[in-house]
Amino acid sequence: MENKKELRNWLNDMNLNHPLVIAGPCSAETEEQVVKIAHQLKDTDATVLRAGIWKPRTRPGNFEGVGALGLKWLQRAREETGMMITTEVANPAHVDLAQKHDVDILWIGARTTVSPFIVQEIAEALRGTDKPVLIKNPVNPDLGLWLGAVERFHKSGIKNLGVIHRGFSTYEKTRYRNNPEWQIPIDLQNRFPDLPLILDPSHIAGNRDIIFDLCQTALDLNYDGLMIETHHDPENAWSDAAQQITPKTLDQITIDLRIRKEEGDAVEFRNRLSTLRTKIDVVDHKLLEILGKRMKISDEIGQLKKENNVAILQTKRWNEILGKMILEGEDQKLSEEFILRIFKAIHQESINHQKKVISS
Ligand code: PEP
Ligand code: MN
Repeated sequence: MENKKELRNWLNDMNLNHPLVIAGPCSAETEEQVVKIAHQLKDTDATVLRAGIWKPRTRPGNFEGVGALGLKWLQRAREETGMMITTEVANPAHVDLAQKHDVDILWIGARTTVSPFIVQEIAEALRGTDKPVLIKNPVNPDLGLWLGAVERFHKSGIKNLGVIHRGFSTYEKTRYRNNPEWQIPIDLQNRFPDLPLILDPSHIAGNRDIIFDLCQTALDLNYDGLMIETHHDPENAWSDAAQQITPKTLDQITIDLRIRKEEGDAVEFRNRLSTLRTKIDVVDHKLLEILGKRMKISDEIGQLKKENNVAILQTKRWNEILGKMILEGEDQKLSEEFILRIFKAIHQESINHQKKVISS
């Protein structure tokens, strides 16, 4: 993509608050529900109302959305509150209907971004539109696939683009519904600093409790906006009940968030420093996670050694590990002295873990 600067213009032109706040239910359920939530959001920082009309569900048998009917409800909500409206489109027929109802912003779901064929079809259907299109990351942690979708829309003459970070699925259960893998949007942001980047904390979290922390991290990383699932009665929502928050909670979150405005040299310096520190925090968190995983494997080895009556310390194996790591460390520009120190510490912790297992 050349003219990257023009990518951000639509967001500036809309003259909305920073950050852009998109809020509304996971799914449009009834006309009353959509209109009620819109009225409750009207006086918050949210300027765009979201609601899924066509819901791509991973497993069949769940609520799959009310369909085109819901577009009328969104239009009514817009008329009554002045909010802009946005919904997910997943094929050219959806695009056609959304255009006919003059939906202000469209988004592409995570299960759509994974498929270049369908992305291409949607991009063709939208050719030349000036409506902003927000592209969610694919469900799998693949930056190329995400960028590929952005490029397909850009090549179809769609200039008003943005991306939504909604996390990545993992086979193993983690504390997140979808692992944030912050490094991926950070890499994307480094490559396209003018492509508006929006966080969807709801689908990352999978529960309401960590929405605030995710939003704060995103703002510290200079994200441009937030898309937060919001429902007047979250517990009884027809989809994603555990992760939705009330408009009142949303309001409190936006009040409590530290929002950075970039003005003046000193402020600019502090902002950049704080962004870099947040990036370090993200990596440190990953380091701890990986060390924890390594020790769990050590525990299993300890168990195996116990069952087979084998000694904990095996010098030959240890020297092999060290030799390999010193060589690999060189590629990462890490000194031999550092590698020795860090691996000795890891090895000692491993031995402590195994001792504990064997004596238990
Ligand atoms: C949604 O926004 O409700 C949704 C289905 O999101 P995703 O595509 O991120 O799963
Ligand atoms: Mn949802």
